[in-house]
Formats: sequence, structure tokens, C-alpha cells
Amino acid sequence: MKRLTCIVLALVLLLTGCASAKRSGAETVFAMDTVMDLQVWGKDAQKALGKMKEEITALESVWSATKQDSLVTRLNMGEDVALTQPQQELLQQAEELSARTRGLFDPKLGGYIRAWGFYDKQYKVPDEEDLESVRPQWDLGGIVKGYAGDRLTEILDTFNIDRAILNLGGNIQTYGEKPDGEPWKIAIQHPDGGTLGTVSVRGTMAVVTSGDYQRYFEQDGKVYHHIIDPRSGYPADSGLTSVTVICKDGTLADALSTAFFVMGMEKAVDHWQANRDFGMVLLTKDGKLYATEDVALTDCQYEVIPYEK
Ligand code: AMP
Ligand code: MG
Repeated sequence: MKRLTCIVLALVLLLTGCASAKRSGAETVFAMDTVMDLQVWGKDAQKALGKMKEEITALESVWSATKQDSLVTRLNMGEDVALTQPQQELLQQAEELSARTRGLFDPKLGGYIRAWGFYDKQYKVPDEEDLESVRPQWDLGGIVKGYAGDRLTEILDTFNIDRAILNLGGNIQTYGEKPDGEPWKIAIQHPDGGTLGTVSVRGTMAVVTSGDYQRYFEQDGKVYHHIIDPRSGYPADSGLTSVTVICKDGTLADALSTAFFVMGMEKAVDHWQANRDFGMVLLTKDGKLYATEDVALTDCQYEVIPYEK
């Protein structure tokens, strides 16, 4: 067990260091129902920022579950749509991630999301009949920001860029190495505000968090959040309140963080032991913080989850 001193910092904070290159740029974009901050260093920073903004807008118009003419909406209306190869690949990857998580990452639970009013923000607790009559409908909200992080790093690869840090609504994507040789330091948000701890990563990496505090409503004194257990159609209640997954593949990180939130700590740890292609930080509802042994977590007290030999 490893004990470190807890320091409370302000909100989600990117400790990116101040050794900024001469040629750098930053943009804030509102897309996918969230605020995105893009910070880029390198000769082509402005060009790369322009391309990234275009890509975010394009991805939103294809993968939005609420825009009337998006691909997702057209598929859900039963239209026979001709898919591009990247579109086909993402839908297939979503199905594979669903299989990997035994259906707990479920890219077809859009009907439940609608029934709870998360699309139009007309929140309501649906009755049993509403939930029973729900049909499979695509909703890629559980991976689209992680996928966007992957696509944006591909764009950065095509330009003369030294490094970048992209905050896609709490999904953090790092790119390249910091010049001082220090790791990127990513603060994870505490559900109550402040910071849960700081994760250090090197190079190009995705740090993706799913939490019940990110989107929710209250009715009759009860809180209902946006991560749904596909087995019941109700908000997941696995004993976890925040799950962060760290790995190279942003789409995988995003799917796993959502699925682990649903499956709970024990099964998430089993999944980590069996696969070991990611690291994770878990916060339980009763305030216990855990991180797998491969994660460099500081500024907090936590228990290390060791590899089983
Ligand atoms: P995230 O913030 O990545 O955990 O994703 C949450 C979003 O994914 C929700 O707003 C829904 O659009 C969708 N979602 C909710 N529950 C699930 C689930 N069990 N599997 C896949 N997507 C989900
Ligand atoms: Mg997710």
C-alpha cells in the first residue's frame, strides 16, 4: 500500500509546465455538448489548430445522436446509409468494445438516454413500460470524445508540431514530449470540485474520466446520472463515482471508463489483470481511491492495486 500526501488544488487543472516554445497557439471550441481546449506548440501550431477545429466539427456532425441529419440519427431512423471506411471502422470498433466489456459498454443504448431526457434536457424518470419498450439505437457518446482525441493526434502527426495537450471536455489527450523532459501532469477532477490527484504520463496518451457528477439531474431528492446500466436501463449503481482510464488508444480508454463505471471495482480490476493494456484510477462512493500499479498518481492518498503474479 502506498500513501502520499493529499494536496487540494483547483478544478480540472492541466499542469503543463511553463516552458512554452516560441511558436504556440491555443483555441477553445464548444462542440459535442462540452468545452474543448486545444493547446499546441510547434512551427505549424496555427495550421494544426485550424485543421483540428474542422475535424471536431466534422466528427460532431457525423456522430451526434441529437443533430437531425447526423449519421447516427439517420441510422437510427433505419435509413440505408452508405458508410465511409472510417465510419464503418468506428461502428465495428464500438461493437468489439461492447463484446470486450460483455455488453456493459453498449453503443446501442440511445433509447434509454432518450427515455431519461438526456438528449433534449427535458429530464424525467421513465416508468417501467417506457424502459421495456426501448429499442436498440446507436449512441456513441461513450467513445466519441476519446475517438476524437485519436483523430486529432493523427492530424498533429501530419504537421510540424512539437507537442500538444487537448482537453476534450475532461478527456485529456497529450501529444509529444515536454522540452524539460518532465512528464505531462494531468489533474483528475474530484466529484466534489477540487482535484482528486495528479496523473503523470509521457508522450502521446489519453487520460479519460467517466463520473456520475459529469451529467445528472435531481428529482424528488434523488440524483439520476447519465451512465446507464444496459441490463436495467437505469443509471449504473456499482459503488464507483469516478473512473479514469489511461492508455495510448483514446477510443479504448473512453469505452473502458464508461464500462468500468457500470461493472464496478471488482470486475474492472479483473479486466485489468487479464488485459494490462491500460492503467486506471477508481474512486468509490465511500471515498476510497485506488490506482493500478502502472499509474503514476501523486498529490493524494490512495491504495495501489498490484499485478497478480
Ligand atoms: P462517458 O462520459 O464517456 O462515460 O459517456 C457517457 C455517455 O455515453 C452518455 O452521455 C451516453 O451518451 C453514453 N452512455 C451512457 N451509458 C453508456 C453505456 N453503458 N455504454 C455506452 N455508452 C453509454
Ligand atoms: Mg467513455
